[in-house]
Amino acid sequence: MSRAADLLTCLVVPERCLHCRGPAERPGAMLCHACHGALPWLPVDGCRRCGLPRPCPRGRCPSRSAPFAAAWAPLSYEGPARTLALLGKDRAARRVAPWFAAAMVARVPATVTDGVAAVVPVPPDPRRLRRRGEDHAALLAAAVAAALGVPRLPLLGRERSGPAQHHRTRAERLRIAAPVLLAVPPDRVLLVDDVHTTGATARAAAAALRGGGARRVTVLTALRTLR
Ligand SMILES: [Zn+2]
Ligand SMILES: [Zn+2]
Repeated sequence: MSRAADLLTCLVVPERCLHCRGPAERPGAMLCHACHGALPWLPVDGCRRCGLPRPCPRGRCPSRSAPFAAAWAPLSYEGPARTLALLGKDRAARRVAPWFAAAMVARVPATVTDGVAAVVPVPPDPRRLRRRGEDHAALLAAAVAAALGVPRLPLLGRERSGPAQHHRTRAERLRIAAPVLLAVPPDRVLLVDDVHTTGATARAAAAALRGGGARRVTVLTALRTLR
């Protein structure tokens, strides 16, 4: 297609919905009207501890022994939200992150954000970051911190796994890639990540922060899997 024809196409064809490829709701919108209406929003009155949409039965919460005090996400990891999350890990990261961050802070329960002194992104696995090129958790944390009016502190890193790691077992590599604390955290920390799946990542990151002196760590993610 010639440059002029390409330009003309951009002007006359409405932008496409990133989920179904139909016409976007309005110019610049990421979704069409139907997909926007189908977003899987999660309630604010589910389990405070793990973020599942219903209160967990006593003793059955998957986060009952977690080092974080509360967890929540505005959306479940399915449908149009899952599509946006997958694009947010790659080429649309800078477009998608502010949208997710706005959804995260719009209805977040006070138990998750009250009194937090800093927002800390979960550090990416160095190999994943090399492959994708964008650190989605860092982008989300920056936007959430700005919205809450608290600093974003990159307090966690990961020990790099070099080429000499090939002989190690998977369990050893996971342990090696565990988050490490880079500086002393404040008293109350809000940990931010893109997806809460088993909670293992948040658990490891919260444990590092608690071990470094943080007294209360809460977790805010863009999405949550419902298993
Ligand atoms: Zn659509
Ligand atoms: Zn629970």
